[in-house]
Amino acid sequence: MKSRGLAIHDATSPLVSFEFERRDLRPRDVAIDVKYSGICHSDIHTARGEWGPVLYPLVPGHEIVGVVSSIGTEVSKFQVGQLIGVGVFVDSCQTCSNCDAGLQNYCLDGMTGTYNGFERDGITQTRGGYSNTFVIDENFAVHIPENLPLEAVAPLLCAGITLYSPIKKWNVGPTTRVAVMGLGGLGHMGVKFAHAMGAHVTVISHTASKKSDALEMGADEFICTSDISILKEYSKKFDLILNTVSAEIDINPYLGLLALDGTLVVIGLPGKPYAVNVGSLLDGRRRMAGSMIGGMPELQEMLDFCGEHGIVSDVEVIGADYANTAYDRTVASDVKYRFVLDASTF
Ligand code: NAP
Ligand code: ZN
Repeated sequence: MKSRGLAIHDATSPLVSFEFERRDLRPRDVAIDVKYSGICHSDIHTARGEWGPVLYPLVPGHEIVGVVSSIGTEVSKFQVGQLIGVGVFVDSCQTCSNCDAGLQNYCLDGMTGTYNGFERDGITQTRGGYSNTFVIDENFAVHIPENLPLEAVAPLLCAGITLYSPIKKWNVGPTTRVAVMGLGGLGHMGVKFAHAMGAHVTVISHTASKKSDALEMGADEFICTSDISILKEYSKKFDLILNTVSAEIDINPYLGLLALDGTLVVIGLPGKPYAVNVGSLLDGRRRMAGSMIGGMPELQEMLDFCGEHGIVSDVEVIGADYANTAYDRTVASDVKYRFVLDASTF
């Protein structure tokens, strides 16, 4: 299947037009007419080699929404014309204990990423959603609620699930004091979900101008870290901190914000190790944890939750010609709050 999109050819080059072939439909495959594709900071880390080796030319994109254009002979979950979404992985071993538990994101054999890798045949290069077509095994795609604006749903496929999953895992509810570090694509979804669960939500941001947006999204408080010493005022105030910061920062002042038995969940992945002062963990029996996207059942659960509660991402829809500027603006924290590519412009 002929496909057209955007690719990066090496770590320092811009995204440029790119034509390539998708695989023919296997019996359980669905072909997608892609409508929108979100720009995740992970696309940028990957494209620029910040996370290790890259399989160029790279077609990024793992926040994909579109319409089913054709189906394989054994497909039962989707029909032609239905809305469909694809996230961060397109396959897994489907036999290990984690896959059995619906946690394909933690597949013991490694999930198959939506781009920058190979299909499980070891030959076919995976290419992401910055393109006008996609082909996926029906078991790795989700249904999209009909009542939501499609362009604003795209970021839910990564940013949405990546915050929904730890918010559920750590049982966020009306008595939880949650802080979200970084008000970007991921962070703003964390604010919306934690607020929807009834939590007291504080945004910790290094961009003062994001305060009014944060409060409008459901935050109760806003802390600006342009003067980092302000954090001392919030010592031991939070039960759960969701760290979505994409850049290298000193994590230690933030650990001091955790109350007894509080947890700081690392979600942002700058690509360099953190230096952790373990003394900050001992005091208050604090924990540091990690969380990576979510499994297929939870991805569908999150989308259904968004449909019921009218939750979507705040997006800036752009054409292909703006993609490189969008990358630069995202890196500069100038994103409100997710760039989404209109696939009709590829
Ligand atoms: P994003 O939209 O660029 O948001 C990141 C935010 O971090 C920025 O908007 C900014 O918020 C804050 N930030 C950036 N530089 C900073 C600095 N120098 N000091 C303090 N704060 C800074 O990125 P995203 O798409 O949300 O992704 C966030 C991170 O999560 C990335 O590293 C990404 O690769 C990772 N990620 C992880 C998973 C997972 O499964 N764990 C999934 C997807 C993405 P303020 O302006 O509010 O300070
Ligand atoms: Zn992502």
